[in-house]
Amino acid sequence: MSAPKRYTITAALPYTNGPIHIGHLAGVYVPADIYARYLRLIGKDVAYISGSDEHGAAIPMRAKKEGVSPQVIIDKYHGIIKKSFVDFGISFDNYSRTSSKIHHETASDFFTKMYSDGEFIEEVSAQLYDAEANQFLADRFVVGTCPKCGFEESYGDQCESCGTSHNATDLINPKSAITGNIPTVKETKHWFLPLDKHEDFLRKWILDGHKKDWKPNVYGQVKSWVEDGLRPRAVTRDLDWGIPVPLKEADGKVLYVWFDAPIGYISATKEWAAREGKNWEDYWKKDDTKLVHFIGKDNIVFHCIIFPSMLKAHGNYILPDNVPANEFLNLEGNKLSTSKNWAVWLHEYLEEFPNQQDVLRYTLTANAPESKDNDFTWKDFQAKNNNELVAIFGNFINRVVVLTNKYYDGIVPVPNDFSEIDEDVLAALKEFPNTIGKSIERYRFREASQELMSLARLGNKYLADEEPWKVIKLDEERVQTIMYVALQISAALAVVSEPFLPFTSTKLKNILNIDASLSWQNVTENLVLLPATHQINKAELLFSKIEDKEIEAQVEKLAATRVANEQENKVTEPQKETIEFEDFTKLDIRVGTILEAEKVAKTKKLLKLKVDVGIDIRTIVSGIAESFSPEEIIGLQVSVLVNLAPRKIRGVESQGMILMTDTPDGKLAFVAPEKVVKNGQAVS
Ligand SMILES: [Zn+2]
Repeated sequence: MSAPKRYTITAALPYTNGPIHIGHLAGVYVPADIYARYLRLIGKDVAYISGSDEHGAAIPMRAKKEGVSPQVIIDKYHGIIKKSFVDFGISFDNYSRTSSKIHHETASDFFTKMYSDGEFIEEVSAQLYDAEANQFLADRFVVGTCPKCGFEESYGDQCESCGTSHNATDLINPKSAITGNIPTVKETKHWFLPLDKHEDFLRKWILDGHKKDWKPNVYGQVKSWVEDGLRPRAVTRDLDWGIPVPLKEADGKVLYVWFDAPIGYISATKEWAAREGKNWEDYWKKDDTKLVHFIGKDNIVFHCIIFPSMLKAHGNYILPDNVPANEFLNLEGNKLSTSKNWAVWLHEYLEEFPNQQDVLRYTLTANAPESKDNDFTWKDFQAKNNNELVAIFGNFINRVVVLTNKYYDGIVPVPNDFSEIDEDVLAALKEFPNTIGKSIERYRFREASQELMSLARLGNKYLADEEPWKVIKLDEERVQTIMYVALQISAALAVVSEPFLPFTSTKLKNILNIDASLSWQNVTENLVLLPATHQINKAELLFSKIEDKEIEAQVEKLAATRVANEQENKVTEPQKETIEFEDFTKLDIRVGTILEAEKVAKTKKLLKLKVDVGIDIRTIVSGIAESFSPEEIIGLQVSVLVNLAPRKIRGVESQGMILMTDTPDGKLAFVAPEKVVKNGQAVS
C-alpha cells in the first residue's frame, strides 16, 4: 500500500465476564496504544476502536451461576473495564459496547445483506441438546474431549489447550455445562458461512499476498488452517442472549457471537464518526485506509479467516492490512487464568501502584510476547523500574533539570563551540525518531521500547562522561554547552517517549515547559528543540524506586492464590478401612497445655515443645513452625497422642504427637477441646 490516508486500528473486544489483566494488556491494548499514539504524533488520521463484547456465551453461563440477569454482569464489567482503560491511559477514540442499539442494527443489516445475496447456506442438522435445561448446547455450554489434542475439558467452540476451533458435535464424550447431563441430539435449522467457498480468496490474499509482512506466528496458523481444508461455520445459535437473527423463520435464534463481535468494530467506528462529524465509511471502505487488527493468538482464526470472509462476502469493505497477533504472557511461570484468579488485574494494579501506569506499560512492552510466549515476574517488574526507568531515564532527567536550575536559574544557557562529542550526540539524537518509528511500523514494539531506552542511555552517558558538576569549577563556558546539549536530549525524550510512557511524557513536557504540540518530526528536523534563554520549571521525580517489600507483598498475594487454588482442587480422601472399637481404644489421646516452645535449630518446620499432658511434662517435636511462631502457642490446650512410641527427630527425642488439621489457606490448625479442661483428660 502506498502511504495510507488514514488508519483504522482495532483492539480485540474484551469479554465482559471479568476484568482486564496484564495478559490482555501485553497481548493487545498496550501495543495497539503505542501504535495509535505514534501515528497521531506523526500527524496521521487515526480511529482507534474497541468495545465490550457483551454477547459471549460465557456471559449467560456466568449469570446463571450467579443467579442474576446477563445485563447485570455486562454492566458491571463494562464499567470496570472501561474505567481501568481510561485510568491506564489507553487512548481509544471510541470504546463502545455490543449491546448498543447502533451495534444491533449494524450487525442485523450485515446479516440481512449477506442473506439476500445468498452468501449463507441453510442446514437442518442434529445438534446437542440438554432436555433438562431445555436448551441446545454449543460453545461454552458444552464440554468434552478435544478431537484434536485429547484435552478433556475442551469447550464446544474452541479448545483452550491446543487452540483448535471446532463444532460442538465434534467433541468426544460431550457433557452439558449447565446440568452435567449427557446431551441428546435434536434437529434445528441454522445458517452457515461456507468458508470452503472462500478458500481460494484466502490463499491468494494471505498465503500469497502477506507472506513477507505478516508475523510468522500468524501466517503459520492461517496456513495450517487453510491447508487442513475449511468447512462451513454456523453463524447462528439457539440461544436467548444475543442479537436476534433478522428472519421470520428464525424465532428464538441469535447471531453467533463470533459473527456479531467483529462487526462491533464497525459499529463503534460509526458511533465515533457521528460524534466527531466524520464519515465512518472512509475508515472501512476506502482503499487508502489502512486497517490493522490487534489481537491475541487465540483470535487469529476469527480475524484472519472468518471476519475477512464476511467482509469479502458482504462486499464494499477493505480487508485488514495486518493482524499483528501476539503470543501469550504467563505470570510467574504459569498460564494466566481469569477463573483461577491467576492474574495481575489492571484495576487492582492501578490502586496498589498509584501514578505508576508507565512502569507497567514499560515492563509489558519491554517483555512483550511478540514472537513467543513470555513470562511476567514481579522481580523483573522491579528490575525494569529500578534499573532502567529510575537509574537511566529518571536519573538523567533529574540531573539535567536540577543542574540547569542550580547553575542558570532554570534558563537554557547559550552554548559555545560544540566539541566533536557534542556534534555526534546532537546528530545521533535526530536518528532516534526514525529508528523507533520504523520498529513501531513493523509492529516490533519491544525493539522500539529498547531504542527509547537507548536514547535515555545516550543522555546518561553523555552527562557521566562530561561531568559538568566537576567542570563547573574549571570552565564555566564549557558547562553552558554541556547543559545545552543535555537539555536537547531531554526535550527529545519528552516527545519520543509519548507512545510508550504517556504520563511521563506529559510530566516531562511540563518540567521542560515545552509545547505539547512538539511533534515527532520536529525532533528530527528542528535544529534546536529547547532554545537558549528558554525558561524551564523545577525538578520533579519522574520515577521512584520500588522497594523489595512492595514486590514481596505481590508475590505473597499470588502465593495465597496458588494455595487457595490447590485447596479448591483438593479432593476429600476416601474413608480408610473399617476398624474395630478395640483398635480405637489402643490410641491414648489426652488434652495437654503447651508450656514452652522453641525452634529446632537448622530446620524450617520443627518446633520443640514442652507439654503438660497431666501424666507428666514431656518433650514433643512438632512440624508446625511454618504455621505458628513459638510465642503465639504458649499456653494453648491441644490434643496429644501420648502413647506413640518415642522417636528421635533431629537429635531430639519426641514423646508423643500433637493432633493437627489443615485450614483452607494451607496452614495448620490445632484440634483442641472447645472449652478449657483439666490436663490429662482423655479424648474418646
Ligand atoms: Zn485441543
